[in-house]
Amino acid sequence: MAEVLVTGGAGYIGSSVTELLLAHGHAPLVLDNLSQGHCAAIAPGAGFLQADLQDPDAFAHVFAGRKIAAVIHLAAVSVVGDSVRQPLRYYRQNVGGLLNLLDAMRDASVGAIVFSSTASVYGIPEKIPVTERCAVRPINPYGSTKLLGEQILVDAAAADGLRWVALRYFNVAGATELCGEAHHPETHLIPRVLEVVLGQRPHLEIYGADYATPDGTCIRDYIHILDLAEAHVLALDAVLAASPALPAAPIFNLGNNRGYSVREIVACVEKVTGRPVPCVNHPRRNGDPPQLVASHDKIADALGWRPRRGLDEIVVSAWAWRQRHPRGYEG
Ligand code: UDP
Repeated sequence: MAEVLVTGGAGYIGSSVTELLLAHGHAPLVLDNLSQGHCAAIAPGAGFLQADLQDPDAFAHVFAGRKIAAVIHLAAVSVVGDSVRQPLRYYRQNVGGLLNLLDAMRDASVGAIVFSSTASVYGIPEKIPVTERCAVRPINPYGSTKLLGEQILVDAAAADGLRWVALRYFNVAGATELCGEAHHPETHLIPRVLEVVLGQRPHLEIYGADYATPDGTCIRDYIHILDLAEAHVLALDAVLAASPALPAAPIFNLGNNRGYSVREIVACVEKVTGRPVPCVNHPRRNGDPPQLVASHDKIADALGWRPRRGLDEIVVSAWAWRQRHPRGYEG
């Protein structure tokens, strides 16, 4: 059976996507440099190669002698604040890495890719909910590198007939049975709130309580990792089949069409865990738009994808995983 290469398949999103690919009868081959991923997160049954996107020679080996039908490209650096401090690193990894990958794919005649993009391409969105027609004006280098990636795919498709889909993630959260979120250092809200519950942090710092939102804190659209993974499988099947359902601009938002403030997230975690979460107001974090809520109508119409899990399920699953892995993959 032809394999599906999953770059970044040892990371939080990649490991869950890999798990679901296996469940759908695909043969995933994980490629990861393990800089942020964990061997323990790689779904049992998937192949694994340790290699870096910056090393074109490694790609020659990956594609040589294998039948790879498509690539799901998730490997990237993705912390907004780091991207502001180290923009060149972000361009090198995210843009340079994609170019190396596309060169290798072209040489090996692999003509289908699902690309992980981000809501950060919208910057401060012109309206809520955000549709794919909204202006793209990233306000940090991370968003810029992903927008450039999408543009590279547009041009490669025009020149080489590459089939592609780009998925713009909103706030991915929650866990599967096997895979959960554990970054070092952790920057994301829900795992940080759970760290407070576990006594690993004294309190949650709320980055800005003076936004023009009903309770003053930022609003985000949280999407369950399993819903997100399901969208990848649908997108993969569509690019593999060169589905006529794919629009000329195959770029899709992945969110729930529903936003929650930081305080609403804290309240949900308190309800699910039955424990209090002390909070301290902090200054705003640079580059945070006040509200980001997706419209997912485009992918619902084209591929029939709809999220099936709400905030409670996200927090319940994240809490269950975290209780089994209080120190992430290290414990
Ligand atoms: N946030 C916060 N305290 C934290 C971590 C995050 O107040 O310790 C806020 C952050 O400012 C944003 C929201 O929670 O408004 C979601 O942040 P996260 O880093 O999870 O995702 P992002 O929206 O930046 O991709």
